Amino acid sequence: MKRVVLGGQRAWLEDVPDPTPEGEWVVVKMHSSPICGSDMHGYHADGDHHGGGHEGVGEVAAVDTAHRLKVGDRVLVNPASGCGECWRCRSGNYIHCRSMPPGSGGHFAQYVRKQEWLCPKLPDDIGYDLASLMGCGLSPAYQALTRMGVSAFHSLLVTGLGPVGLGAVALAKFLGAEVIAVDPEPWRRERALLIGAEEALDPTEVDVLQFVRDRTGGEGVHRALDASGKPDAERLCIDAVRALGKVGFIGENPNTIEYGPSNDGIRRGIEIIAAWHQNLTSVDDLITFLRRFPRAAKLISHTFGFSQVNEAFATFAGRQSAKVVLRPWGN
Ligand SMILES: [Zn+2]
Ligand SMILES: [Zn+2]
Repeated sequence: MKRVVLGGQRAWLEDVPDPTPEGEWVVVKMHSSPICGSDMHGYHADGDHHGGGHEGVGEVAAVDTAHRLKVGDRVLVNPASGCGECWRCRSGNYIHCRSMPPGSGGHFAQYVRKQEWLCPKLPDDIGYDLASLMGCGLSPAYQALTRMGVSAFHSLLVTGLGPVGLGAVALAKFLGAEVIAVDPEPWRRERALLIGAEEALDPTEVDVLQFVRDRTGGEGVHRALDASGKPDAERLCIDAVRALGKVGFIGENPNTIEYGPSNDGIRRGIEIIAAWHQNLTSVDDLITFLRRFPRAAKLISHTFGFSQVNEAFATFAGRQSAKVVLRPWGN
């Protein structure tokens, strides 16, 4: 089969043996494998990086003793793996499992081997590309927004409008919130408005904190969510919420930001939550969202067959895109 290799700001294909099913591990023929911001580390790094990709959907191509799935089933392919027995796995939050068994290859490949319990079935009425958004395109934002209790009663600030932030805008509009979206890239702001954001601000041109205060009678927004991973934007989210507000972080930032337990936490009563990756707990609600929110289709801006894999990564790196989806069996 063909598999993607990344490195030195290039992407290309290599030939590797097809995976084989074994026990609960089934083989899935991948039809749509989106590119995630975190895949870009390998793309920009030196050296050859094999086995990337962690989102996507496909159809079961081979089974061994798996009993829940059969050949031909359409499935969501979750990232990584899990022991299936610890409390994290049993609660559906397997992404935090501490004893993941090896053997799950990257998803930028024509076939992927995966434990059957990490391949929820997809309904027939949702196409592969759209369903592939249920990975990082929607799941971190879904987890954060639901844990923050975002509703139609709320104003929400979203900082960072890459695919994850745009997914947050879409879900927040589905939930009825008023959305103020922030990103320096005009293309991304335009897309946020198409999806339904009330405002899309350029933080290099506008004092966003002042804008938020003016718009909310000096109170601040009810909720704020950062998808940029940028320290300034994360701090802005803390500053922009009103008393008893909630702040969510879903953009990776391995460093630290300033947070005052008294001045930010105790005396304002704000809560901070964070969410990572995709979990089994989001699947059913995201299927409902994809069925009932037609503008979700605007979360995908480009699709590329495997032969155009270099162009696909260059497009994503150019920041003039929403989700870029690879089709491992497309031209
Ligand atoms: Zn991801
Ligand atoms: Zn586990």
